[in-house]
Amino acid sequence: MAKKSLGYVKLEWICPNCKSRNPGPQQKCGSCGAAQPADVEFVQPLQEEIIEEKAQIERAAAGPDIHCGYCGARNAATDKVCVQCGADLKAGQARAAGQVLGAHRSQSVPDVTCPACGSANPASAQRCQRCGAGLLSGAELMARAPKPNKQGGFGRAALFVGLGIVALIVVFLALMFRTEETIGVVQDVNWERRIEIQALVPVAKENWIDQIPSGVAVGQCRKRVARTQDEPTANAREVCGTPYTVDQGSGFGEVVQECRYEILEDWCEYKVDEWRSVDSVSANGPGVAALWPELRLDTNQREGRRSEEYTILFSTDGDNYRYKVSQANDAAKFEKGSRWILSVNTFNAVTNVEPAR
Ligand SMILES: [Zn+2]
Ligand SMILES: [Zn+2]
Ligand SMILES: [Zn+2]
Repeated sequence: MAKKSLGYVKLEWICPNCKSRNPGPQQKCGSCGAAQPADVEFVQPLQEEIIEEKAQIERAAAGPDIHCGYCGARNAATDKVCVQCGADLKAGQARAAGQVLGAHRSQSVPDVTCPACGSANPASAQRCQRCGAGLLSGAELMARAPKPNKQGGFGRAALFVGLGIVALIVVFLALMFRTEETIGVVQDVNWERRIEIQALVPVAKENWIDQIPSGVAVGQCRKRVARTQDEPTANAREVCGTPYTVDQGSGFGEVVQECRYEILEDWCEYKVDEWRSVDSVSANGPGVAALWPELRLDTNQREGRRSEEYTILFSTDGDNYRYKVSQANDAAKFEKGSRWILSVNTFNAVTNVEPAR
């Protein structure tokens, strides 16, 4: 997937000394003047706005800020010496960068009520515009916001349905394989032979336009995703995931999203003539001396599959059962009046026959 940058947003940090919220790029607390320690992380404000100002964008893109190796003060990535103590920043420690902070908060959020005087302030305000009291950070407000219910219900229902289906299959198989044995006497053997008749008929198909054989009339086409790739290309449809904010270590976050590119091609309907079974002729009669039915073909028709089947009719104590075999020499074993052990399953089908001694 290709990573696409939507720009930079200003983050926040919370002063550990006085709990005030401060704009990310600001290195010292606006309330008490304490420098931001290296272990105080940046957080997302309630509402993130893509910054437009060139100087801020440059600062955001310059890389993580550096904490002075001597006094710990925070300095911009481009600084050479510490703004607080003048020490060389080569011995300093760059802030961590690259952590994903969360989904980009592009939507406007309701005003924040000042806990001290009760007046409404925009969510971006760090202190009350009326009385100057510190306002809660975006992260704190988010933590207090009601969370959507965890969706466990559907998964559980699906599990029960799945178990039910498995149970039904087990019961069905058990009934199918549960057999009872009974003695049957052969009453009759009948043969049936069948010849399939095939004809060339137009068959509706669909395929990519370049896969359709030449000389075929192409019907309606529509655009469909033929493949996807990570890199953008001409005529591709861009599909992007939810934008998210990545800490840059400079008090700014970069808003990025992962995108894929779908290449659309024509998927078309067409018709080709194919041999398909359209009819059949059959013959039947008593015994095992089977004959093939007479076959008369029209033009554009041809002979298809030939098949034969022999049905043995057994009678038991009050019941009749049919059993089918596909070979004449198997059928010939069932002499009229001979006795056989029939395995009959719950669905009244004969699953096996053995000669009775
Ligand atoms: Zn402070
Ligand atoms: Zn310093
Ligand atoms: Zn206030």
